[in-house]
Amino acid sequence: MPRYYFKCSDAGYQCSYEVDGATPEELEPKIKIHAKYAHNMFEVPEDKMSAFKAAIKEKPTS
Ligand SMILES: [Zn+2]
Repeated sequence: MPRYYFKCSDAGYQCSYEVDGATPEELEPKIKIHAKYAHNMFEVPEDKMSAFKAAIKEKPTS
C-alpha cells in the first residue's frame, strides 16, 4: 500500500507527473529519472533534489 506520493506540480513545475511509494526513499530514484528525462536534468542538483524531497507528501490515512 503506497503511503507517500510526489506531484511534480508541487515542486513548482507545470507538469502532471505523479508517483507514489511505500517510503520517501523509494520515490527519490523515480523522481531523479523523471527530472532527467522530463526536465533535462542529467544530474539533479542538490538544491533541486531538496525541493523535490520537500514536495513528497504522506497520504492521509482513512
Ligand atoms: Zn515533472
